[in-house]
Amino acid sequence: MDRSDICEVLHFIDGERVPSADGATLDNFEPATGESLGTIAAGGAVEVDRATAAATRALPGWSDQSAEYRGAWLEKLADAIEQRLDDFAWAESVDNGKPIGAARTIDIPRAAANLRFFAGAARFQHQDAHRSRMAGEDLWNVTICKPVGVSGCISPWNLPLYLFTWKIAPALAAGCTVVAKPSEVTPVTADLLAQVAQEVGFPAGVLNIVHGLGPAAGAAIVGHPGIPAITFTGGTATGAAIASQAAPLFKKTLLELGGKNPTVVFADADLDAAVEGATAAAFSNQGQICLCGSRILVERSILQSFTSRLVEKAQEMTIGDPLDDSTQLGSLVSASHREKVEACLQLAREEGGEILCGGQRVAPDGRCSEGYFLSPAVVTGLGPATRTNQEEIFGPVATVIPFDDEAEAIEIANGVRYGLAASIWTRDVDRALRVSEKIEAGTVWVNCWMKRDLRTVFGGVKESGLGREGGSDSLKFFQEPTNICIRFDSKGPGSSDE
Ligand code: NDP
Repeated sequence: MDRSDICEVLHFIDGERVPSADGATLDNFEPATGESLGTIAAGGAVEVDRATAAATRALPGWSDQSAEYRGAWLEKLADAIEQRLDDFAWAESVDNGKPIGAARTIDIPRAAANLRFFAGAARFQHQDAHRSRMAGEDLWNVTICKPVGVSGCISPWNLPLYLFTWKIAPALAAGCTVVAKPSEVTPVTADLLAQVAQEVGFPAGVLNIVHGLGPAAGAAIVGHPGIPAITFTGGTATGAAIASQAAPLFKKTLLELGGKNPTVVFADADLDAAVEGATAAAFSNQGQICLCGSRILVERSILQSFTSRLVEKAQEMTIGDPLDDSTQLGSLVSASHREKVEACLQLAREEGGEILCGGQRVAPDGRCSEGYFLSPAVVTGLGPATRTNQEEIFGPVATVIPFDDEAEAIEIANGVRYGLAASIWTRDVDRALRVSEKIEAGTVWVNCWMKRDLRTVFGGVKESGLGREGGSDSLKFFQEPTNICIRFDSKGPGSSDE
């Protein structure tokens, strides 16, 4: 596979890869070099309309099938991704700027795992039945779950195929057909998935992909009357725009949004593990993961030793060509995103923060000299209420904030408008449980970070989201439960009640 194979990203509508009706395109760039990768079909209302029509036509044939039938198709897609693991990993790395090692071991395997997981989860989904007796009558209440219909799936650029499949897999497994939009910043692997779907003969119209800008293609999906459910992962401001567009249309809406997650390190923690964990949480994927621990809260008695080791670790990270296997930090996703992160660092300076390391542009030798690289930054000296400690940066920037006791740690951890995730580092089990219960977040990790069992719930509180994904919660989002109440005769003919 080479660049010519990914130079033209097309929509996938009714089983065909097609350009936009008016031929409109957007430019795609490789962030590690700044060079053109080719064009992306730029869709809007017309393409969403066509995709929704195809998905509506395909819906009865897909939703009427068994979970086993649908699961078998998802497994075929997963097989095909795994067979072309290297192609997908290469494409994800080129399109996003992430290290190829991460794409090969995390992003792409997880995409295949998402498809396999929901193929199985739908097969094992149970439905409720309640036996009741009311006013002398015997009843069975049986809840059946019907697919909600054509589902809109909108995903971001940071974990492109990983999050794209996290949305489409449960939708398809639950019996819905899909109109999906990946971020126009990283559309390539969704287009490769479309090609794979064609190769395996995936039923036409069941999965449709419309590329294009959020306010054009994305908003057209959210507003389309033929799409009753919208699942979205992205920024909080976009989530608010989607919620206000969808609410008057009474659409089911699931929102996974931003975070400003705390990593809380107590003095009794295993320091080696905590430094390692905090570094990974802060800088993995160049700090561009919603779950990144961008605020590191450290008990004051270990502040100096912890911070100096954190700085050392950050400085040791290998920044370089994302296609090089030894690279740990690739480039940021775009020139404009790097500028945004740099503006956040400037704000940190203006607020009185000290940048202990990083925050500088890096120009790796060779083909990546014009890429959007930034060294990982550790910032200290800022109070919890500063904008730097309140606003999501979504880049390789972590702040260190001291605390004196457990109560203060919890107060600082919860003192933001977000509530997506947290990690706590301590050897004291009682404290770990106490603090976990009090932290306002959808996920709390203790002595680890970003371990995800796909059966567990996932989502955010406060401005980090609405609703839950993961396991049966994902499937339920794409279903409408109906309770059927059946009166029956429990005594039989000849009973004394007759
Ligand atoms: P955005 O909110 O900018 O975009 C996400 C998706 O929404 C993209 O496909 C985008 O299209 C589309 N979009 C933009 N505007 C609209 C609109 N008005 N209507 C419908 N769709 C629209 O997020 P980013 O892509 O920049 O991703 C980063 C953000 O995502 C961060 O805030 C991060 O925290 C969050 N995130 C949350 C996760 C979670 O699980 N909670 C996981 C990963 C990321 P396009 O890009 O093509 O314009």
